[in-house]
Amino acid sequence: MVVLLTLLLLPLPVNSSKEFTAVNEYSILPQQCCLEFNGTRAFTYLEDQCAFGPRPPGSSNLTACGDYIIASLENQGWNIQRQTWTHLDTPLRNIIAGASSSPRYVLIAHYDTRPIADMDSNLENRAQPILGANDGASGVAALLELACVLPEGAQNAVTLLFVDAEDSGNWNGWDYIVGSTYYVNSLTEYQKNNIQAAVLLDMMGDADLQLKHELSSTPSLVNAIWQIAADLQYDDVFLDVPGYNIGDDHRPFLRAGIPAIDIIDFDYPPWHTLEDTPDKCSPESLEAVGRVVEAFVQKQLVAPTIFRVTDPWFLPLIFALMILVIVVIVLILLVLWRKRQSFD
Ligand SMILES: [Zn+2]
Repeated sequence: MVVLLTLLLLPLPVNSSKEFTAVNEYSILPQQCCLEFNGTRAFTYLEDQCAFGPRPPGSSNLTACGDYIIASLENQGWNIQRQTWTHLDTPLRNIIAGASSSPRYVLIAHYDTRPIADMDSNLENRAQPILGANDGASGVAALLELACVLPEGAQNAVTLLFVDAEDSGNWNGWDYIVGSTYYVNSLTEYQKNNIQAAVLLDMMGDADLQLKHELSSTPSLVNAIWQIAADLQYDDVFLDVPGYNIGDDHRPFLRAGIPAIDIIDFDYPPWHTLEDTPDKCSPESLEAVGRVVEAFVQKQLVAPTIFRVTDPWFLPLIFALMILVIVVIVLILLVLWRKRQSFD
């Protein structure tokens, strides 16, 4: 009970939209004209990755694609760190771009693709690896374009993280999110505390892009990014409605207490089929998300907002327990009062 009553006295999490309004007063609202993210150029990065073919962990296609990502980043002047290890006898590699060993923002995408098309309607296709134009290449394409357009000096605060082995779960003893888990486990407490936000881009190249709030994402971070999308008039893409609860590369960050968001459109019929090809994606979708993330980073660099991890189920549970405690106290008092009355 002591714990519960103490919790009663704790301040409730700050309303995120208020936080954001306060930031708007001190910084210029992002304007389309100031943003440079180019969807057409980003789309060529998506096609380039698919030209390597399916890219499951440990494959020569993935190694070649990783080398391509590194070359593109180095071309844009980004410092590269390679994080290599072995998992289930398979060599894996995360690619980390940025100048700071302790970044404040981490932008994430997985560059591997699923080894099996287990959702394909054609049973004969199910053992084949997917091309992953949307599920893999779209997020990486957006990050490579962001590497070109983020303001000078962003490297000191932002890390671009390309993770391996996100999408091999339930196949030959593999789990999902192996690469992102390895990255977060490699961080020191100091590094974890320094990350203000982790932004995951996954399956956001769908030509029919309709993004909904991913339910495990940090609410204040979702609100901040959705507010920028509304300011940029992308509210036809960033829908202000709840979506799904998705196990994805943002989860290891959340588990480490780091605010994180998964920007994903999970309503994508070609998901985990051989149909996940570039013709299902569009430059416009990449540009909408890319520009919102570009504006978010610009804003954070000028006037950082503090985001807090809160589990959405946590507060209702506390309130329910508090009400229970109050009811019990009232009942005890009532019983004592009646006993006293009967003595009188
Ligand atoms: Zn996938």
